Amino acid sequence: MKQPILLSTPHIGEQELKFVQEAFETNWVAPVGPHIDAFEQEFSQIVGAKHAAALSSGTAALHLALKLVGVKPGDEVFCSTFTFIASVSPITYLGATPVFIDSDRTSWNMDPSLLADSLAQKDRIGKLPKAVVLVHLYGQSADIEPIMQICDRYGIPLIEDAAEALGATYKNTSPGTWGRAGIFSFNGNKIITTSGGGMLVSGDDKLISQAKFLATQARDPQPHYEHTQIGFNYRLSNILAGIGRGQLMVLKERVTARRRNFAFYQKMLGDLPGIEFMPEADFGTCTRWLSCLTFDPNIGGIDREQVRLKLLEQQIETRPVWKPMHLQPVFASCECVNNGVAEDLFQKGLCLPSGSNLTNEELERVTTKIRELYNK
Ligand SMILES: *Cc1c(COP(=O)(O)O)cnc(C)c1O
Repeated sequence: MKQPILLSTPHIGEQELKFVQEAFETNWVAPVGPHIDAFEQEFSQIVGAKHAAALSSGTAALHLALKLVGVKPGDEVFCSTFTFIASVSPITYLGATPVFIDSDRTSWNMDPSLLADSLAQKDRIGKLPKAVVLVHLYGQSADIEPIMQICDRYGIPLIEDAAEALGATYKNTSPGTWGRAGIFSFNGNKIITTSGGGMLVSGDDKLISQAKFLATQARDPQPHYEHTQIGFNYRLSNILAGIGRGQLMVLKERVTARRRNFAFYQKMLGDLPGIEFMPEADFGTCTRWLSCLTFDPNIGGIDREQVRLKLLEQQIETRPVWKPMHLQPVFASCECVNNGVAEDLFQKGLCLPSGSNLTNEELERVTTKIRELYNK
């Protein structure tokens, strides 16, 4: 039996172990230490952020961001519906209610005109949301500028979930650096990984120092342990920050490799009827963190599930694109501004194996099996 081909696996470079070793040799085996500071600095430089806090996960980063812009129980927070649940869970941790906004076809991310319409409507009834969480999905930036302008018009803080978009560009800048705060993830399946981890970035140094304070149990500056607030245990370990520093050194190569996977799939499958690849919006570069495409059975006679199951038989792992949050049972009672795009993508969309460590033989195995379904 052939080796399984997985969706997206960690891809460690040459330097990571050296940084980890250094942490051991200097006994910085703690959620404090020189790798954390260096990782924050190097990361900020790469994405063009002013300030950064290294945290235990992207979810933790988003939780702190929402808390620090003042989200409280009973508030509403707007969020992209086409995303992974970690974009939304922190809204509920704070006792707030998500309102979901659908996507446009050009970027698969939040549709600026839907956002504008729904904010105008909320304004008329005097119930504006406390924040907007804008997700940059599958390595592609949303159309940030119009969304920022709309948020600014109403004075609503924009928080960018760039967990999947490290290495992407929007008008030659990094998504995640435009809003009041942005978050990134270094989970095992992301474009670079620390096994688990996240980063909060902001132009506001007070927000970042508050985040670091809350992430370390909100300990007041006293020789003993003094607390006037409830905090969290959300700091990244110095060892994992060492892995992160090594991974940052190969980020560019990882983006190139993932874009190469996508180009290969496009070349080998692009002629098949009913297949469409995720578009790349003209305002930036998509990292192709995951290679996504849609199968229209009315045109090609083959649906997404047939492809997924056929590949599964061959031990090739694929995944339907994210099931929209407004279709999730846990959010059944939440409002959604729905234009049908996310639902349509979920019906037809599939993520193919996308790791930066895939070989040509593996990529060919995937495309050959898909072509067999079409007898081509
Ligand atoms: C992975 C991911 C997160 C959460 O990051 P973790 O580090 O796994 O907590 C948040 N949002 C999106 C869109 C993600 O893909």
